[in-house]
Amino acid sequence: MRKSLPATGRSAAELLVELKARSAADTDWRGGRLPAYIFRGGADDVSDIGRQAYGFYFTENALGARRAFPSLVQMEKEIIEIGLDLFHAPDGAAGHLSTGGTESIIMAVKACRDWTRRRRGDAGHRGNLVMANTAHPAFSKAARLMDLEVRRTDTAADFRADPQAIAAATDDDTIMIVGSAPCFPRGVIDPIAELGALAERRGIWFHVDACVGGFLAPFARELGYPVPEFDFALPGVTSLSADLHKYGFTPKPASTVFFRDAERAAAAMFEIDEWPSGLYAVATIVGTRPGGAVAGAWATLHYLGAEGYRREARRLMTLRDRYIAGIEALPGFRVIGKPDLTLLSFACERADPRLVAQSLARRGWVANLTRDPPGLHLMLTIVHENACEDYLRDLASAAAEAAATPKGEASVSVTY
Ligand SMILES: *Cc1c(COP(=O)(O)O)cnc(C)c1O
Repeated sequence: MRKSLPATGRSAAELLVELKARSAADTDWRGGRLPAYIFRGGADDVSDIGRQAYGFYFTENALGARRAFPSLVQMEKEIIEIGLDLFHAPDGAAGHLSTGGTESIIMAVKACRDWTRRRRGDAGHRGNLVMANTAHPAFSKAARLMDLEVRRTDTAADFRADPQAIAAATDDDTIMIVGSAPCFPRGVIDPIAELGALAERRGIWFHVDACVGGFLAPFARELGYPVPEFDFALPGVTSLSADLHKYGFTPKPASTVFFRDAERAAAAMFEIDEWPSGLYAVATIVGTRPGGAVAGAWATLHYLGAEGYRREARRLMTLRDRYIAGIEALPGFRVIGKPDLTLLSFACERADPRLVAQSLARRGWVANLTRDPPGLHLMLTIVHENACEDYLRDLASAAAEAAATPKGEASVSVTY
């Protein structure tokens, strides 16, 4: 029977009780049993300031900010300036706030397509994007929406983008080269300097996808971790995406996208004046945007400050090292490549990782998997701190159980 809208309303108290009951069926992310999707700062206060700021601007709509909410315009401007500064953008650089990494990437590809077509003329050019096969699906989504071609190349032996393979896949129709800092599947940063130099030599737009790492990498670098340069300090970098709602610890949905100059940033805009209500201009796919996400991001950035982000980065990188040491101490387990930040994948020689994942699931863990090579995947955030010992213990028993299972019985598939 299909559900229909209840004829009469119910009390708020009753509904909140029901929500709590319903959420009991969800994965215990607070207990660190989820390997992705959620991000938390060190203590509850970091989420609390985001939540309070979000609540304060719960009803405001950032779509109408220019006409009605100058406070939101100002907060957006300040968030973008903070990002430009953090990512060493030159004078004249500009950026936009968006609702997520996917949207930041789509808008970067849109800006690149429009800007490049204007320069080259579009006669006979479809346009292609060249990237390692580890690049995020958002680039393929952008390409499909805009009827562009995507060329994904094999990575080098270290699982980073292979500049030679990228160069070989590039031709006169290439409008964008992509590098990830880091990529999701392996957590490694592509050779951004080399890719940037290649893009510069060939006069091609180079986008750095720092969606997941953007608000963590600069602070890990400051702490002395060997994180390579990945931003506008490198002259070949044309645009860069960085998600606030990941390691910026701000409420969802919030991300940023930056461009080396204002002309390229302007190419991200969508403008239409051919309808009765006049000029409609946005730098996003979406129209209505939550004012709460803007205020939540602004407040979180100012609550933590550089000092707070360094503190978070230190705690997360220490945690990363604890997981790596614990995983590699288990027989048959080996981390794949050299993860630069807090995302990692690891292989298991004793058993099919899918069987290990099934075994972990029986112990209450959601396990993410990778292919080529097969492995398990973790994106660490602070909720994984208390879970570390339990996870490693259950991983060891899951591997033992999986090793004793006859081959070919895995019923899970590799899913993001
Ligand atoms: C998360 C992520 C994205 C996309 O971000 P959404 O906010 O999920 O749209 C892009 N690139 C990388 C490397 C990511 O990890």
